[in-house]
Amino acid sequence: MLNFNKVFQSKLPEIPTSIFAIMSGLATQHNALNLSQGFPDFESDAKLIKLVNSAMMNGKNQYAPMPGIISLREQIAQKTESLYKVSYNPETEITITAGATQAIFTVIAATVSKGDEVIIFKPAYDCYEPTIELFGGKTVAIQLDPEDFKINWEEVKGLITDKTKMIIINTPHNPSGRILSKKDMLQLETLLRNTNILLLSDEVYEHIIFDGEQHQSAALFPALAERSFIIASFGKTFHNTGWKMGYCIAPAQLTKEFRKVHQFNVFSANHPIQVALAEYLKTPSNYLELGNFYQQKRDLFLDLIKDSRFEFSPSKGTYFQLLNFKNITQESDYDFAVRLTKEQKIASIPISVFNNENYDTKVLRFCFAKTEETLKRAAEILNKI
Ligand code: PMP
Ligand code: GLN
Repeated sequence: MLNFNKVFQSKLPEIPTSIFAIMSGLATQHNALNLSQGFPDFESDAKLIKLVNSAMMNGKNQYAPMPGIISLREQIAQKTESLYKVSYNPETEITITAGATQAIFTVIAATVSKGDEVIIFKPAYDCYEPTIELFGGKTVAIQLDPEDFKINWEEVKGLITDKTKMIIINTPHNPSGRILSKKDMLQLETLLRNTNILLLSDEVYEHIIFDGEQHQSAALFPALAERSFIIASFGKTFHNTGWKMGYCIAPAQLTKEFRKVHQFNVFSANHPIQVALAEYLKTPSNYLELGNFYQQKRDLFLDLIKDSRFEFSPSKGTYFQLLNFKNITQESDYDFAVRLTKEQKIASIPISVFNNENYDTKVLRFCFAKTEETLKRAAEILNKI
């Protein structure tokens, strides 16, 4: 009989099942309103679905070229140029991926070796740390203040060593809903200018930004852009997280290394969807109106719960809102999230799972990418708690 422990040493011994799988599973099991995992409960544009159908009917059903179809890469180059005034070569600097997760995995696999240090900021999206660990890297995690989630760049400077390979940033930030300012980016640029440190800039919520703020892409800052892998997700932008489509833009030398790994962990991403996206991106309003669209949802949700016992400061980007429950109970955020799912039939994400040593700040994350009806039902529940 196979002695599992003898032949198999876990590469990720400490890593539990993703909180998104846990909370969505619990929501289904208890028939709860699911505001945990980040996905819309409304449909993607019928026009886009039609375009996918047509691509399938037109025979685009075999492998796409390894880096993605050129027409889609050209559209991404145009979009990036019009938004950030910087030109990326679609042939050599843009790669279509199976969602942002695969892009992030590929960046880390292609760059991080045993003993390399990677600086991340907590709370951090859950896929960074396990992936760094998988490739023998060491995560250097900086815990941000739970009040404002501001980065102290002097502190970052103090943690840079000759082993620092990469810094990972995420703006707009999941789960806090905070954004990095131009000043932040300039400070980061100054910090990295004369180093060989790479930047992974997770910008999957680039179009979901509120109150007239501008997204500060790493592409806007030359000394950052030259060392950056910029990651985007179509799932977040076009309301179809289940399609798992995204992309990575990076200077040619970085992209070359990225593709060496990409070709062996997925080879290429979904072909008919690429054909559809290439067409759909020709209409910029399809993504430029996203900020207003989600700002209305944020405002509705917050207005509906303004008299509840939860405390909050409005999200500035992403489709997540943090709610502090310290006035309600002292139980752990994890226990409270589970109890709310089972007893009150509303699921959320306890943010301690994204913090250093599960630092519990009595805060839950709610996804407001939901219909008005869902948000009203959610508010009714939350107002009674
Ligand atoms: N990064 C962040 C910050 C996210 O919130 C998500 C979830 N969309 C991802 C990466 C992964 O995106 P995808 O679903 O396209 O893999
Ligand atoms: N990005 C989504 C969130 O933050 C979850 C994606 C996933 O389930 N891995 O909720």
